[in-house]
Amino acid sequence: MDTSNINDLSEVVEADRIHVWHHLSQHKQYEAVDPRVIVEGKGLRVWDATGRETLDAVSGGVWTVNVGYGRESIANVVRDQLLKMNYFAGSAGSIPGAMFAQRLIEKMPGMTRVYYSNSGSEANEKAYKMVRQIAHQVHGGKKWKILYRERDYHGTTIAALASGGQEERKSFYGPYPEGFVPVPHCLEYRSQWGEVEDYGLRAANAIEEVILREGPDTVGAIILEPVTAGGGVITPPEGYWPRVQEICKKYGLLLIIDEVVCGVGRTGKWFGYQQYGVQPDIVTMAKGVASGYAAISCTVTTEAVFEMFKGNPNDPLDYFRDISTFGGCTAGPAAALENMRIIEDEGLLENTTAMGERLMGNLNALMEKHRVIGQVRGKGLFIGAELVSDRTSREPLAEATVAAVVGAVMKRGVQIGMTNRSVPGFNNTLCLSPALISTADDVDQMSDAIDGALGEICG
Ligand code: PLP
Repeated sequence: MDTSNINDLSEVVEADRIHVWHHLSQHKQYEAVDPRVIVEGKGLRVWDATGRETLDAVSGGVWTVNVGYGRESIANVVRDQLLKMNYFAGSAGSIPGAMFAQRLIEKMPGMTRVYYSNSGSEANEKAYKMVRQIAHQVHGGKKWKILYRERDYHGTTIAALASGGQEERKSFYGPYPEGFVPVPHCLEYRSQWGEVEDYGLRAANAIEEVILREGPDTVGAIILEPVTAGGGVITPPEGYWPRVQEICKKYGLLLIIDEVVCGVGRTGKWFGYQQYGVQPDIVTMAKGVASGYAAISCTVTTEAVFEMFKGNPNDPLDYFRDISTFGGCTAGPAAALENMRIIEDEGLLENTTAMGERLMGNLNALMEKHRVIGQVRGKGLFIGAELVSDRTSREPLAEATVAAVVGAVMKRGVQIGMTNRSVPGFNNTLCLSPALISTADDVDQMSDAIDGALGEICG
């Protein structure tokens, strides 16, 4: 990167310090240190306003930049599209909107319809509105409750938070809308039932218990992440998903799968649910859909779900009464189409599987050296290492120590993440989700930095 004009950025840094209210940041602390203004990115690497280079092992901090930074072909496609036709409300069609929907559906057997909006939260809100309208229209006001799972996260708007299983994100924003009901998490390492032989089945059966408690005629849907992301990179235990699917069929629940993180290659398949042979009714996605080159999210449904909204021409109110202004922006689907082409042409699903296995192997090898690593979990380039102060009792490592490890990794030039606020006391998982273009050298650099940081902080 050309850092010759870096001094000119001091004004920018000051403007950022004084005027920008940063996401998820405690500003008293943030302002005490130099604000971090990222000015350039290429591949997996980013440079900040001081010229410091970092290897980004979290795809833009939050599992987003799947194809890496500086993709000229995406910028060109978006530029051309914006000059030709930048926007028209989503009640009309657009060339990239239609073409991306077609390409996406090819990757999702059983699904047929794509509803566009702008963020993961919004995509999930659309899904909830579909469930609620079906409850009114088809079930005579019944089946309006939506189940969600402890530790899962589905977004930041009020209804999305109501369906969030992370207490520390949720508290202070209630009261919440009614009808969102939690089911137990499926993290076997922290089993709620002690040692059980078939934990996956036990955790899935816990969903049935909630349905029976609430009354099956009141419950319309369940939303789940294929692999829980910010709640601790929780891969589902053996047997979990098939049983969840059975339960949904048995009680007539719509299965909503939140692919906001897992979608578009992150786990080594196009979608996380495809790792587990499950067939959803509604799938939501955002982050990696256009790798952050434009804002786009999708709520994808089966034809059976869509059929319920086709409407009766004699009733002018019989349709999905929803809109998202910027769901009509063409930059999103144009970028998403090119993003998908890159993943295909560069073989990034295969690379994700191979590099994911290498990174998992490296981290598993570190367990021999660092007793603070309690468990390594993940799928593809989506990996978590849960840190504990004692391997036998599995006492979680203190959050401040985990944060110090993340800081020490950063000092070594690599940015990783840690569990977002999930269960109080359990913000103890290191998170890695580098771009799908990662090379063997890149993933080795990540695990080497973690090795050094654990040695420095945890001895
Ligand atoms: N769903 C999951 C699994 C997420 O991790 C997130 C954000 O991190 C969301 C939904 C919300 O997406 P957004 O921040 O785009 O609203």
